[in-house]
Amino acid sequence: MSNSFLIPHAPAGSSSTVPTNLLIGDAWREAIGAKRLQVDDPSTGDMLTSVADGSIEDGISAVDAAERAAPGWAATPPRSRAEILRKCYEGMITNIDWLTHLISLENGKSLTDARGEVLYAAEFFRWYSEEAVRVLGEFTASPNGANHILVRYQPIGISLLVTPWNFPAAMATRKIAPALAAGCTLILKPAAETPLTALAVGEIMRQAGTPPGVVNIVTTSTAGPVCSAILHDARVRKLSFTGSTAVGRHLLHEAADQVISSSMELGGNAPFLVFDDAALPDALDGAMIAKMRNGGEACTAANRFLVQRGIYPAFTQGIVERMSRIKLGVGYDASTDLGPMINAKAVDKIRSLVDDAVAKGANVLLGGQQLNRPGFYFPPTVLGDVPSDAQILREEVFGPVVALQPFDDQDEAIRRANATELGLAAYVYTSDLKRGLQVCDQIESGMIALNRGLVSDPAAPFGGVKQSGLGREGSHHGLIEFCEAKYVATSW
Ligand code: NAP
Repeated sequence: MSNSFLIPHAPAGSSSTVPTNLLIGDAWREAIGAKRLQVDDPSTGDMLTSVADGSIEDGISAVDAAERAAPGWAATPPRSRAEILRKCYEGMITNIDWLTHLISLENGKSLTDARGEVLYAAEFFRWYSEEAVRVLGEFTASPNGANHILVRYQPIGISLLVTPWNFPAAMATRKIAPALAAGCTLILKPAAETPLTALAVGEIMRQAGTPPGVVNIVTTSTAGPVCSAILHDARVRKLSFTGSTAVGRHLLHEAADQVISSSMELGGNAPFLVFDDAALPDALDGAMIAKMRNGGEACTAANRFLVQRGIYPAFTQGIVERMSRIKLGVGYDASTDLGPMINAKAVDKIRSLVDDAVAKGANVLLGGQQLNRPGFYFPPTVLGDVPSDAQILREEVFGPVVALQPFDDQDEAIRRANATELGLAAYVYTSDLKRGLQVCDQIESGMIALNRGLVSDPAAPFGGVKQSGLGREGSHHGLIEFCEAKYVATSW
């Protein structure tokens, strides 16, 4: 067993060795009992390495470390916290080549997507280095004129951050950076499939000067018991989770026992609406980004393409042409557009959703069949005239499948777009600005891209309505999630 992982075939130059133990307090250490968790390469299905498999006791040790560091970090001047965050940003940019390779290796995404993720992830450090010095309070006279209301925003306290495998760097930094800017110490629990990227970010943060115990990282194969123990420790005051709605719902129950403040970034089922008056090339460009960024494994991925009947044939032909040009292959091969899915379970789910749609009457216009090769691949697929009872319209397919349905008028489009209990992202293409803004008002979704294929931006509030989540990440809103408002009533 080794305490570090040498990234194979990483670009020459800067450090390309990743720690594989737990980060607790001032050191990387083995899990109690030296247990290990295997990490695989989805491009081949082979084992890459192993990381420490943390236990409940390790999780509580991380809370101990976070508690020891908490008073010092909360008292650190905002400017000093900002400078450390800025160094974290610079650390990620300096190391972008091997970080890109590492993400592709353990997640399977293409190098283009992985590089985009490193830039996006680093940007949260830069954004919150700038926000750390602008945690503004409020001061006002009470309506009767006799008293004054003073409101300060203080760090909420020790935070548990739980992140998914689909953006192993960005989902971590989107939480770590605002938590640190607010003055909180934390325990990060990354996904079991992609722990290496989180550990690499942890080492970059240590080298940037993050004090011991401020950031603790616990990798584990037993997320349920470890997170439950942490959430039942009265010293922990915040849960920030990104992942599926099912697990989010479960964790809300867990957090309820200690009444822990909870931010939830959950699943999506994004509609992509194309009206007859849309600029076709723009709509196709946007569709490819909204569908294929991250190989379709994005919570914001367009899941249901609702296309008005007049433009439906041309849009369908255009999307089939573009999807058929995608080159599938090993994620870290420079010529690959679409790498493997994360694991066999993900491929099984895609296949069963495609099979269900086809059995109910959808037309396979491209792909549709699982590939017979090592690794976890599913080819670019386009399904036409998907019937309304197909399961693919109800669940995130989380893969490279375009499901098309025609619609007749705006009312029908809105009704169908909103026919889901989820409401994370939506996409609208029309050249009529009035209609576009009306549709934005009517769609039940936390984020809408109007004539764009991408919503994510560290400077904007990211989050969902309905069962897609609670709270927002990014922008000033993301920082306030890690603060408690303290009100002082006074008069003089
Ligand atoms: P997931 O199965 O919900 O897992 C997310 C995280 O929760 C992982 O770290 C996982 O650990 C952990 N976890 C699982 N069961 C747990 C439990 N009982 N207690 C505590 N933690 C537990 O989701 P995923 O498959 O990794 O990610 C895909 C989902 O994330 C999709 O639904 C996607 O839409 C959503 N997502 C949402 C956003 C957003 O911003 N709204 C962004 C990205 C992804 P293990 O890895 O050990 O199971």
